[in-house]
Amino acid sequence: MSIGYNHVRARIHVQAIADNFKDMNRRGGNCFAVVKSDAYGHGLSTVAEALAGAGARTLAVGTVGEAAVLANTTFTGRVVSLLGPQLPEDYALAVKRRVICFCGRREQLRRLDEAAGAAGGKALVSLKFDTGMRRLGFLPEEATEILELLRGLVHLEAVMVSSHLATADEPGAEAFVHEQATRFKEIVRVLRAGGLVVEANLCNSAALLAFPEYHFDGQRPGISLYGGNPFYGTSKENLGCCLRPAMEVTSRIYQVHDLKSGEGINYGLTYCAERDMRVAIVGVGYADNYSRALSGKSWMVVAGQRVPVVGRVCMQMTAVDVSAVPEARAGDTVWLMGGDSAVAIHACELAQWWGTISYEVYCLMGMNPREYVLDR
Ligand SMILES: *Cc1c(COP(=O)(O)O)cnc(C)c1O
Repeated sequence: MSIGYNHVRARIHVQAIADNFKDMNRRGGNCFAVVKSDAYGHGLSTVAEALAGAGARTLAVGTVGEAAVLANTTFTGRVVSLLGPQLPEDYALAVKRRVICFCGRREQLRRLDEAAGAAGGKALVSLKFDTGMRRLGFLPEEATEILELLRGLVHLEAVMVSSHLATADEPGAEAFVHEQATRFKEIVRVLRAGGLVVEANLCNSAALLAFPEYHFDGQRPGISLYGGNPFYGTSKENLGCCLRPAMEVTSRIYQVHDLKSGEGINYGLTYCAERDMRVAIVGVGYADNYSRALSGKSWMVVAGQRVPVVGRVCMQMTAVDVSAVPEARAGDTVWLMGGDSAVAIHACELAQWWGTISYEVYCLMGMNPREYVLDR
């Protein structure tokens, strides 16, 4: 959270996150709840405590610094850092907090071993392999050499082996998932044959839902916990349809007035009224992470009805057509996301208008001041 100058509020239903976790955990056991990037904009500490209450025993953060934040919560389980140590200052912190670090470079292993030795302890590691994403990780053919390297690093304990799928949420790209999973299986086999006792984990939300055959020992769902359907708008949409959105975003109406036929509105006058109408000026704009790309493309909910955005999204204001909502008044609440169930705007839908994915919508909208709703 960092935006503090507006009337936008991200309301978080923590029970929905707890319920989604239980649901995902039933489908694929031993779920590591992914809470990186401030729990996808939902608030790291509060979400961590809700997940702990729902039975989560392992949380996955991004940076090692986020793991340190968890130390000040009631969550007492294991913490995995998906990025692992990246900067020099991360190594000692990772050892001190007993974070299980994703490591995909030899240098990371050596420096973590050194830091653990200096602290008189052990560092916990998840060996991260690149099976096709081409971002981070050891290559499959390095598995044997990594085993040898580990024999010399006596302050390290490799407790997991991981890889990440590039196309799990794309119907039609299953062949590449199978290819990556096949490579991963072979890596796991080699490491175990070499004597390592490692928990294998491969699946993100999409893979957990769509590829039960690749569940291995642990799963790493993120977006699904917050109610995002990784298959929204695809032929596999049904797989994630029962997840409950946890974030609603509201603002307030500043002013309501008439717009006469032929009048334009907002910068560039890009929208021109085709008939006499009424517009509401809503207190949200791109400074609140409500993207200017939504100009003329988005909808909001006012008094139980969907109303279209007209003209450009400005820095702190956006106009909507409320001709069909005569009761709309200054001060009324407007939903940018969520709203009465029949017309509720889902993050995935907002993402589509925006030209992005629900992940980005959650991360960005979640930077607005948050309020937590504990019942529901
Ligand atoms: C973010 C992340 C996940 C979670 O992915 P979702 O698609 O949000 O479920 C899992 N594994 C890794 C390595 C990640 O970085």
